[in-house]
Amino acid sequence: MNTIKQRLTSVKSQIDNAEQLAKRDSGSVKLLAVSKTKPATDIASAYQAGQRHFGESYLQEALDKQNELAAFNISWHFIGHIQSNKTKVIATYFSWVHSVDRLKIAQRLSAQRPAFLPRLNILIQVNVSCETTKSGVQLDKLPQLIQAINELPRLRLCGVMAIPQPCLDYQQQRQPYRDLYQAVTQLESSELTEFSFGMSADLIAAIVEGATIVRVGTALFGSRVT
Ligand SMILES: *Cc1c(COP(=O)(O)O)cnc(C)c1O
Repeated sequence: MNTIKQRLTSVKSQIDNAEQLAKRDSGSVKLLAVSKTKPATDIASAYQAGQRHFGESYLQEALDKQNELAAFNISWHFIGHIQSNKTKVIATYFSWVHSVDRLKIAQRLSAQRPAFLPRLNILIQVNVSCETTKSGVQLDKLPQLIQAINELPRLRLCGVMAIPQPCLDYQQQRQPYRDLYQAVTQLESSELTEFSFGMSADLIAAIVEGATIVRVGTALFGSRVT
C-alpha cells in the first residue's frame, strides 16, 4: 500500500522528469496538493512530508480543515467556483485564488481583502474548452479583464488557470495549454508569470506546455468518492 508520503515522492519525481523533458529549469514547477473531500489527517501527512501549498474547492469544508490545521504553516489556495456572496470569506482565509473569471468577483475580493494581510494572489480562470457553459473567461475577453484587475489595489494578479476537457491522448492534452500559453505570453503588458495548468492525469503535457503550478489531487490522496 502506498502512503501519502510515497505518493508525494512519486509525483515530485514525475514533475522533475517532465521539467527535464521540457528543458525547463529544475524546480520551476510548483506542486499544489488538491485535498478537496479528503480529511485533515491526509493534509497533515502530506505536510509532514514537506508539502506546504494545498488547494480546496468547497468553502465550508476548507474552513473546517483550516481550523483543524491552524497550527500548521499552510498556504491555502481556493480553486473552486466562486459565488459572489462568498468572496469575503475567501479574501480573508486564502492566500491564492485560481478561479477568478469575472471582474465583479475580483472587485469584491480586492475590497474585502483584510488590510493586515498582504495582497491576495490571483489567477484568472480561462475557458479553453470552447463551451460557453463552462467556467472561465473567454480568451478574447482576457486582455480587458487583466487590465481591469491590474487596477485593483488589494490583489496581485499572477497568471492564469485552465481546466481543459479531460482526454487521454498526450498530444491532445497539450493543445489547449499551448494555445493559452502563447496567447498570454504574446500579450504585451500582461506580466503574468504563473500558469496553473495540469492535474493528475495530464501533468506531463501541462509542464511541457509551460505550467508553473500543477494541481494534483488523485495521484497524491487517492481517488475521490463523489
Ligand atoms: C479536483 C481538482 C483538481 C485535482 O484533480 P485530480 O485529477 O484529482 O488531480 C485540480 N484542479 C481543480 C480545479 C480541481 O477541482
